[in-house]
Amino acid sequence: MIAADALARRLAGLEGIGIGSDGVDRLAWTAEDEASRAWFECQAADAGLVAERDPAGNLWAHPHGDPPWWAVGSHLDSVRRGGRFDGPLGVMCGFEIAANSKRPLAVISFADEEGARFNTPTFGSKALVGRLDVPTVLERRDDQGIALGEAMRTAGVDPDGLAGASGWLSKLAGFIEVHIDQSTDVARSGVPLGVVNSLASRMRLEVDIRGRADHAGTTPRAERHDALAAAARLIVGAEDAAGELTVTTSRIVAEPNAPTTVAARVRLWIDARGPDGARIDAWRESIEAFAAELAARSRVEISVLVASRSAGQAFSKPLSGELVRSAVSLIGRAPPEIVCFAGHDAGVLAERIPAAMVLVRNATGISHSPDEAVELEDAAIAARVVQRALEEPAR
Ligand SMILES: [Zn+2]
Repeated sequence: MIAADALARRLAGLEGIGIGSDGVDRLAWTAEDEASRAWFECQAADAGLVAERDPAGNLWAHPHGDPPWWAVGSHLDSVRRGGRFDGPLGVMCGFEIAANSKRPLAVISFADEEGARFNTPTFGSKALVGRLDVPTVLERRDDQGIALGEAMRTAGVDPDGLAGASGWLSKLAGFIEVHIDQSTDVARSGVPLGVVNSLASRMRLEVDIRGRADHAGTTPRAERHDALAAAARLIVGAEDAAGELTVTTSRIVAEPNAPTTVAARVRLWIDARGPDGARIDAWRESIEAFAAELAARSRVEISVLVASRSAGQAFSKPLSGELVRSAVSLIGRAPPEIVCFAGHDAGVLAERIPAAMVLVRNATGISHSPDEAVELEDAAIAARVVQRALEEPAR
């Protein structure tokens, strides 16, 4: 039976990789990423599975028999100064489930899930479903000016083969991801795990506000074209219009950003998420109307662009239902059914194959931080729930 101490032993093998006093740094295509691959290959060998890397750099540990296989997993890369569990929890649960399951299962660690280095989140799963804009993506550069294609090549993955990754999707019959809860949704339910019904819709707006640089002391208020004051009103306006959406102005760049100059130009990035895409569209329209009115009264120009958007993604109802039934029979209580507000590889795969997702209780909800934590007892229960659901004859 899957137990917490077995998970702890698997996790211990990753402890030396990219962990410092500020948290975990295992960015994609780095030496730390490569060291994680060595851990993955050891785990595969121990479980009697065949380790392979697909053309997108996704790591597979698969049974000797022919595909398609059911698979369990997550990712091993991290954000900068991240936590120990976001990603590795699902991979180590995958190996533990595969080692204990009566049916042959594969384990997958998706490449560059976080997108922390090249702003390419869920890179590996998007490559698998054929949804990467390959030429554009390979030109993306990190903070050191290194192109993604070059970084892949350094890590031993030929970027010219990337488009071929989509041929690997047919090896999968279905996929279940186990992941640390990045909210307190599961913790509030008092149950060790939750089942994700869908991923929320998301939209990112890029706002460009153009005013005029002026002396901060001598320019009367009525003559100013103050881009930063307009930005402040827009940030508050975006929040005030949010309703039940989760709205965050996450980044601001002001120019010239000097203490005695009225800001000439400000760029803002505003992120909105919610279960209902139509509600996000209505929010965007209200922001555009507010921006037009604000531009007129603040004597600035404001453009509002949709930088990215993704429709919500429902997970497989039969598979999620099986996970709920499995949880009820193992722990005697129904797990909460959740709309998840983060992006995940399982959500990308759900576009094409049966996929589902289980979240493990996180008492504080803290994630993407060295303070993120789960109880491995809870993770072991979640893994048992997945194992049982996958052993149902229909799978
Ligand atoms: Zn993650």
